[in-house]
Amino acid sequence: MAKLSESIINQTESYGAKNYHPLPVVVAKAEGVWIEDPEGNRYMDMLSAYSAVNQGHRHPKIIDALVKQAGRVTLTSRAFHNDQLGPWYEKICQLTNKDMALPMNTGAEAVETAVKAARRWAYDVKGVAEDKAEIIACVGNFHGRTMLAVSLSSEEEYKRGFGPMLPGIKLIPYGDIDALKAAITENTAGFLFEPIQGEAGIVIPPEGFLKEAYEVCKDNNVLYIADEIQAGLARTGKMFACDWEEVEPDMLILGKALGGGVMPISCVVANKDILGVFNPGSHGSTFGGNPLACAVSLASLEVLEEEKLAERSLELGNYMMEELRKIDNPVIKEVRGKGLFVGVELNEPARSYCEALKERGLLCKETHENVIRFAPPLIIDKKDLDWALGHIKEVLKG
Ligand code: PLP
Repeated sequence: MAKLSESIINQTESYGAKNYHPLPVVVAKAEGVWIEDPEGNRYMDMLSAYSAVNQGHRHPKIIDALVKQAGRVTLTSRAFHNDQLGPWYEKICQLTNKDMALPMNTGAEAVETAVKAARRWAYDVKGVAEDKAEIIACVGNFHGRTMLAVSLSSEEEYKRGFGPMLPGIKLIPYGDIDALKAAITENTAGFLFEPIQGEAGIVIPPEGFLKEAYEVCKDNNVLYIADEIQAGLARTGKMFACDWEEVEPDMLILGKALGGGVMPISCVVANKDILGVFNPGSHGSTFGGNPLACAVSLASLEVLEEEKLAERSLELGNYMMEELRKIDNPVIKEVRGKGLFVGVELNEPARSYCEALKERGLLCKETHENVIRFAPPLIIDKKDLDWALGHIKEVLKG
């Protein structure tokens, strides 16, 4: 490895907590689908910061919004109004067809917000007895790394040494409608799920599950809460992954690409009967709804619409999966996905394949040991995708 990259990696490893295991590549610059290391080597980004860079690195319209807003005002806290939050509220509510939004910064905070809203709704609206509210979530879920998020997780390593976990959580097998029915009690506040499980390895529930689960929730007065932090905002070939089964969640949780890979911003959107449970003092965040993030987010949402990135994701994702399925190698167990949210499950660990792809200038990362996740920025064109497919085929043909 070249000297500069090596010394940066050494510096990072000597001072940083070891909570990540990155591929040995240093990113010093990026534009569109391409990133560059300090030595000037170019790589294609096939991960998009876990789908936070759907609009491509440093999209000109988003950077323009960032620079303009940075020249005016960046942070006010919510002690005062700012002139970017109102327009952003209106935009996100129109896009999601909801009455209200609540902005936070990271995905995990938005999940916290949704669960707080669901619990308070259970007490104030549904009439659940104090401290009895339950949330049903799914085995294999990933909702972040806060105490709530790891309490929701079925992954022992995410929880080890962090107990005690939060109470009031039940897990069901992902995609199992009978298990959902059986888990619901009079105390159930909400059913929290990912419409496609990203970190679990691009796991898609059985067709019809999203709709059936919605109906079960409606029949039982249970909130249907979709965590679309990774799958939402055009990634799966629709604006929202729940659109695949034409269901409108009671609460939609967004993050990642909401800030165009430029500013952290996340949110929960819902109607007044749910988000209306919050009153001044019940929830908040110093940076949540800051004018810089709102200006960037507004531009990021406009880019998704103006450039029809959902349609592009659908078309190129179908093409990509068709090409990947042509690779004839028994090491490939399954190629699956929706839009440009593609998982290739192998019969052996995926890390060495990701390393081989890196040597060819293509960056992606294994998820859950045996799955290679391909999630390029959605602005990718067919020529660049073909270049990537050429290398993937070489590496995966064995
Ligand atoms: N929910 C889902 C579905 C995610 O994929 C992630 C991150 O990967 C999160 C929540 C947590 O988001 P953050 O890392 O911004 O806290």
